[in-house]
Amino acid sequence: MLDIKSIRADFPILTQHVNGKPLVYFDNGATAQKPQVVIDAIAKYYEEINANIHRGVHHLSQVATDVYEESRLKIQKHLNARHSYEVLFTSGTTFGINLVANGFGQILKPGDEIIVSHLEHHSNIVPWQFAAERSGATLKVIPMNEKGELMMDEYVKLLSPNTKIVAVNHISNALGTINPIEFIIEKAHEVGAAVLIDGAQATPHLKPDVQALDCDFYVFSGHKICGPTGTGILYGKEKWLNQLPPYQGGGEMIKEVTFEKTTYACLPHKFEAGTPNIAGGIVLGVAVDYLNAIGFDNIEAYEQELLDYATKRLQEFDGIEFYGTSEHKASVISFNFTGIHPYDVGAIIDKLGVAVRTGHHCAQPIMNYFNIPGTIRASFAFYNTKEEIDIFIEALKKAKTMLS
Ligand code: PMP
Repeated sequence: MLDIKSIRADFPILTQHVNGKPLVYFDNGATAQKPQVVIDAIAKYYEEINANIHRGVHHLSQVATDVYEESRLKIQKHLNARHSYEVLFTSGTTFGINLVANGFGQILKPGDEIIVSHLEHHSNIVPWQFAAERSGATLKVIPMNEKGELMMDEYVKLLSPNTKIVAVNHISNALGTINPIEFIIEKAHEVGAAVLIDGAQATPHLKPDVQALDCDFYVFSGHKICGPTGTGILYGKEKWLNQLPPYQGGGEMIKEVTFEKTTYACLPHKFEAGTPNIAGGIVLGVAVDYLNAIGFDNIEAYEQELLDYATKRLQEFDGIEFYGTSEHKASVISFNFTGIHPYDVGAIIDKLGVAVRTGHHCAQPIMNYFNIPGTIRASFAFYNTKEEIDIFIEALKKAKTMLS
């Protein structure tokens, strides 16, 4: 059981009023709010630790390096990665996917195939289009059904020895569907393909075990798990990280540089060119500690309660259309009212203090499938409450009356 009152007290922003009303923040899929320990850790870094890492022999540089590397170890443990050098700091999910797709763009050949799914965020589509264009490989798409679930029978038909990489999300940001990634990974491996999992929407709700999943890459963003913006993680299996070419060239990623030839540093440095977001990387470890202290089992169970309650309450409305009705769903609800533009609803409930996302959620193929311009998306975090859902429902009632 979570003590929601005390958890909410950890998040200073939640006491804010917006348009004269208490803030109800249901845009957690876009970014999560930050607990005081995370906010304090950012200040502490700049007050007490700030120095460049891996460079100086001086005291502060040593301290900064140690704390940064401790954070990597925390994240290694969190993900259950075999080695700490398989855990790369990035600026976020988008960067992580681009790093991997850029590498594959250089090693794939015409005739090779890349598989993504209809449920992807644009950041797990466009980098693969770049890779296909660059290499001459072909991009294939796992279709989805009316419930917003990936069609696994169609997926296995797409697989062949030509398949080199399968890139899918763990949980859909637009619909909340939890995808059967264990099956996807197993089947891809049967034909010798690598698998990248976009965990941007999964990591706020659950703790992935990359060894149990046996995925080849797992990426996520720090800002969605209560950490700072501009942080993220790319987990990659050692054999793949050794095989892929570096993404960015610069300081820290080299072993030796001459004008004739450069050799690269060992992992993880090969992929960490330049001065990283040191404060961000350190504080991401603080966010991971915070979430683990609450416990992901507790988080998952409580968020499912919120999801069930909100779904039940939304079903009270006439003329409501839900998108993404899989039984395997995280705490995300996408819906529309018949004949009303989602943006108009979002704008009115914002006046009542309720923050939701409206639009295509960077997942236009999903919107095209349903033939809609976008949806209203409410996404819940462990610091939200049923009372807030009641406020949300009342705000929607007002919006619907005004717009009907
Ligand atoms: N994939 C998914 C499923 C997402 O939800 C997001 C963020 N909305 C991204 C990728 C991109 O994450 P970021 O913008 O943090 O790089």
